[in-house]
Amino acid sequence: MNEKFETRCIHGDPAVSLQDRYRAISFPIYQTASFSHIRTGHNDSGFDYTRESNPTRRHLEEIVSSLEGAAGTTAFSSGMAAISVCFELFSPGDHIICSEDLYGGVIRLHNLIGIKNGLLIEYVDTTDLQAVADAIRPNTKAIYVETPSNPMMHITDLRACAKLAQEHGLLLIADNTFLSPYFQNPLALGADIVIHSGSKFLSGHNDTIAGFLCTKEPELAARICLLSKTTGGALAPFDSWLVTRGLKTLAVRMERQQENAVKVAEWLLEQPQVTQVFYPGLKTHPGYEININQATGFGSMISFHTDSEDTALRVLHKVKLVIFAESLGGTESLITYPIVQTHPDVSQEMKEHLNITKTLLRLSVGLENADDIISDLKQAFEK
Ligand SMILES: *Cc1c(COP(=O)(O)O)cnc(C)c1O
Repeated sequence: MNEKFETRCIHGDPAVSLQDRYRAISFPIYQTASFSHIRTGHNDSGFDYTRESNPTRRHLEEIVSSLEGAAGTTAFSSGMAAISVCFELFSPGDHIICSEDLYGGVIRLHNLIGIKNGLLIEYVDTTDLQAVADAIRPNTKAIYVETPSNPMMHITDLRACAKLAQEHGLLLIADNTFLSPYFQNPLALGADIVIHSGSKFLSGHNDTIAGFLCTKEPELAARICLLSKTTGGALAPFDSWLVTRGLKTLAVRMERQQENAVKVAEWLLEQPQVTQVFYPGLKTHPGYEININQATGFGSMISFHTDSEDTALRVLHKVKLVIFAESLGGTESLITYPIVQTHPDVSQEMKEHLNITKTLLRLSVGLENADDIISDLKQAFEK
């Protein structure tokens, strides 16, 4: 595979990617439930039933594999559907070490389903390698990390975690949603599985929900495919097409969104009503060095503390261009209130420990003009 990243966003890996039989430029939406057989035990197209596989979805999966350097990728109907299948790889009694600062939905998944299924989930500060090493037990099967994490932007050293995982025969699973494969390739750093919420940067337009599991081991990829076929959460053909279209501009979107985010983060630092800014692109961020050693950028997610709950609420209620909404990574700038909107399932103690308080806001910087984003925030801060 010699083509560069931008090219692969558009064409995948031309050597292996599925091509449309009519050579359509925009890959068609194969909106069909089933595919015909020409005789028993034989189908010449290689496709049977869309729950299992579909050409439009396959085309997308091959592009994502090419971007993440994966042997196999499975596309799901949401990031959570992908994460649910990922946890189906484990059995009752298995111990899994997870970053303590995690996407709120993953904590709800553990509380509602993981515990019932006998998984022993332990939340650890994965920025502290000694803490990760100390948490490993004989029944530990995996280390699950988000870096940068949601919402506190903690940075975990992926190479060091991969080394620990290899020494102990564990899987290293990395949620790469915040940086996308444009800025970070966890498989190349030693991770076994990469997770994406495709609803965010990959599709990039706040118009669809999708998820991915990418792995560098063909055997693991085959297990994930079978679990997807069995549980039935695969991505629909139309949604696969939307993500494929969004991906074509991934590289340029990531660059410009990051450029905007740097300007917004620097502006936020100067605001008297802002007490702390969490952005891995700031040299003062505690994970700055580790992040630049494992990623080529910082992304466009910024969390910050305001001086009071009143200020936080005023900003949320007064923004006009920036939209008060959950989600992230799309063309539109979105701001949200983690304590209420995205992290209600995190225990009170953990929220206090992580500093997810009533003064914390999380901003996803979009593709609008940076000056317009800043003027909107400026008027929202004013009393
Ligand atoms: C949004 C998100 C998810 C969940 O993905 P959905 O597509 O909303 O189901 C998982 N991890 C992270 C880091 C996310 O931001």
